[in-house]
Amino acid sequence: MNTNAKQHQTPIIVVGAGIVGITTAYVLQASGKYAVTVVAEYLPLPTLSDAYTTSAAPAWASPFAGGNWHGYAKLDQTDLQQKELFTLHMLQKLCDLYPDSSIKRVKGYEYRKAADYIEPYFIRHISGVRYIPTSELPPQGIDVGVEFDTVVFNAPEYLAWLARKFVAIGGVLRQSTRLSSLSDALKYAPTPSSPSSNENNNGAGVVVVNCTGLGSRYLVDVADAAVTPARGHVVLVRSPECQDVTVSDESEWFYVIPRGNGTVILGGTYDIGNWSQTTNPDTTTRILQNTIRLCPQLIGEPATSHTTAQNIDDRVAKLRERIVSEHVGFRPMRVGGVRLELSQLDVGNVPVVHNYGHGGYGYQSSWGYAYGAMRLVDQAVNSSCSVGPKHTQSKL
Ligand SMILES: Cc1cc2nc3c(=O)[nH]c(=O)nc-3n(C[C@H](O)[C@H](O)[C@H](O)COP(=O)(O)OP(=O)(O)OC[C@H]3O[C@@H](n4cnc5c(N)ncnc54)[C@H](O)[C@@H]3O)c2cc1C
Repeated sequence: MNTNAKQHQTPIIVVGAGIVGITTAYVLQASGKYAVTVVAEYLPLPTLSDAYTTSAAPAWASPFAGGNWHGYAKLDQTDLQQKELFTLHMLQKLCDLYPDSSIKRVKGYEYRKAADYIEPYFIRHISGVRYIPTSELPPQGIDVGVEFDTVVFNAPEYLAWLARKFVAIGGVLRQSTRLSSLSDALKYAPTPSSPSSNENNNGAGVVVVNCTGLGSRYLVDVADAAVTPARGHVVLVRSPECQDVTVSDESEWFYVIPRGNGTVILGGTYDIGNWSQTTNPDTTTRILQNTIRLCPQLIGEPATSHTTAQNIDDRVAKLRERIVSEHVGFRPMRVGGVRLELSQLDVGNVPVVHNYGHGGYGYQSSWGYAYGAMRLVDQAVNSSCSVGPKHTQSKL
């Protein structure tokens, strides 16, 4: 154990300022062991308005998220399940402690067809679960409904809030150009607070943490071809009447996510490998048709009022009038799942912890992966020798 590392904060460079980078940076900085600098082309501070520029979307998924917690892990993905459940508890705690975080406790509703329904793992682990009687189910085609306690958050606001918390505890945000390699980020290394912490200390001088999402496909020293975009088209509407999250997975996947400020995100699509930044009017109409069917409250109607073939056009027109904006975002999907690994940079003896590839679940697993990344940073710093031969990797 390198005790100097505890007394004198080891410099860490986190590359990437999406929710994964900011949460990881926060956890590292809050530990008291590390002096963390976040380096990224796109940062959530100082101005939130930058978040929604179309040009940022292909390189920065986080401002475009829904966002809600809705367990994604499959029944055999126990590691991801733990990370998601841990994150749900963190988000609930943050909601209770910090109303300005934008996180809200809400009811979640999941609707399915009985033939496709497999009870999700989280149903046995979270509160407020109730199977909805058939008489209370929304419209035609849906025959399983389950209600549960969850959270929603306003993605760009929560991201900026957490970034401010990180800065408030001494973390540093530095804007960069688009880096061509992770090694390029080394020039942003903070000055070690002690001369005993230096870059020749078997790689313990600086640790790089890679949270670049889709960027990991293009950084020359990562070049991960398994990373690919999963395009999501969403419609933001004004609907203070809508308070709860609704997700339906019938032949297509639709969701209604209130942001807690009177606006609601309606989605969505999940187009793998599609980089188009243009919204498609047919998709918009399909999203409106299906979300109003699931959630009549969107236009101020009672939950029990059903959309029918006779009233659908009228209802869609009313919902269309409430559109505030439309967005396309790109989930950083990775074939094989998240890469959470300790490795080394091509240059020097510098350890790198990879934490990228969170697809559609980056927020809802963020705290679990952030602590997982810190365990790997601790391992790199505490090892008395180098992290090993170039291609040795340690997986959590
Ligand atoms: C429509 C939509 C809805 C979603 N809804 C939800 C939801 O409800 N719940 C949920 O949990 N998740 C949701 N997601 C997924 C979630 O948004 C992502 O998983 C998450 O944002 C990924 O965060 P990240 O930090 O890994 O990457 P990003 O947010 O993409 O951040 C990458 C960062 O790395 C920087 N970077 C990359 N390459 C370089 C480089 N070469 N040089 C310098 N900087 C670089 C970028 O500038 C940026 O700061 C949704 C996504 C979309 C698109």
